[in-house]
Amino acid sequence: MHLSRFPRIRLAHTPTPLEPLSNLTRALGGPQLFVKRDDCTGLATGGNKTRKLEFLVGEALEVGADTVITQGAVQSNHCRQTAAAATKLGLKCEIILERRVAESTEEYETSGNVLLDQLFGTAIRRVPAGTDMNGALEEVAGEIRAKGGKPYVIPGGGSNRVGALGYVGCAIELVHQANEAGIRIDHVVHATGSTGTQAGLLAGLEGMNARIPVYGIGVNRSKEQQEGAVHELAEATAEYIGVSGGIERDRVVANCDYVGQGYGVPTEAMVEAVTLTARHEGLLLDPVYSGKAMAGLIDLIRRREVFSKGDNVVFIHTGGSVGLFGYGQVFAPA
Ligand SMILES: *Cc1c(COP(=O)(O)O)cnc(C)c1O
Repeated sequence: MHLSRFPRIRLAHTPTPLEPLSNLTRALGGPQLFVKRDDCTGLATGGNKTRKLEFLVGEALEVGADTVITQGAVQSNHCRQTAAAATKLGLKCEIILERRVAESTEEYETSGNVLLDQLFGTAIRRVPAGTDMNGALEEVAGEIRAKGGKPYVIPGGGSNRVGALGYVGCAIELVHQANEAGIRIDHVVHATGSTGTQAGLLAGLEGMNARIPVYGIGVNRSKEQQEGAVHELAEATAEYIGVSGGIERDRVVANCDYVGQGYGVPTEAMVEAVTLTARHEGLLLDPVYSGKAMAGLIDLIRRREVFSKGDNVVFIHTGGSVGLFGYGQVFAPA
């Protein structure tokens, strides 16, 4: 496993801190919670996509692209970080935003991530829910090529084997950090969506033979679909970095009980988790990913399932708190 073999542009502030969540731990009565601050990767308010973009944009530059194109929901953290990375590196950027959340508000359509996309001067196209987003990406790529441009297509969430390298890197970083600090990690927990984060972590931890289980908490699909998609990308990533033997299917765990009505639709448990984390730790989660993941973690701790009191649990904070401004009404005090 040698990441320097792959093209890479440094964008993230790493290593991100690994911090105890002592107040939340006390409030919940154990296990010992830690947070890996990938919300602090530094690019335009940070988040997990920045690690992936180091390798994706690295490859885009290597192949001589002049434009990057990608897609996501209106409040996509991935599109916002892609737009910032492209701007910084002198690449043009086009993003396609799907109106994936049915009951959206004006602040959802104009504030938070999408406000920042506009600030970067990114070309934005909005399309209805249910649009074939991969098809839409290919169409835009075709238009750019027809005008003599060189597009580089980044899939939604930056989740392919190239983007997943960012989370292979995070796995290496986390294990070193825990070893230095003398922290035994019993579980890693995080929000899983387009799968690159979990796939990269699984491949990286496998490559180090760390034997640390990764517990994904889903935000859109069913358990079966999510675990299948994570497994497929984890295997492809493991092969890409030369980890032999693949990833056993039963190492892939995604709990999808906390999605609620669907992607980006607030749940009561998410609001409670975001509020609890803010009030105990002064730490901001987000409404779409880390808030639902923390809601799951809190519920599983209360039920005394999965995690034991004496365990050390690392919650990877994947970022997105700027999305809170797209959901202000949900959090407005009564
Ligand atoms: C994209 C995203 C995730 C999910 O990561 P995937 O690699 O897409 O599974 C989690 N949290 C935040 C804040 C995100 O923006």
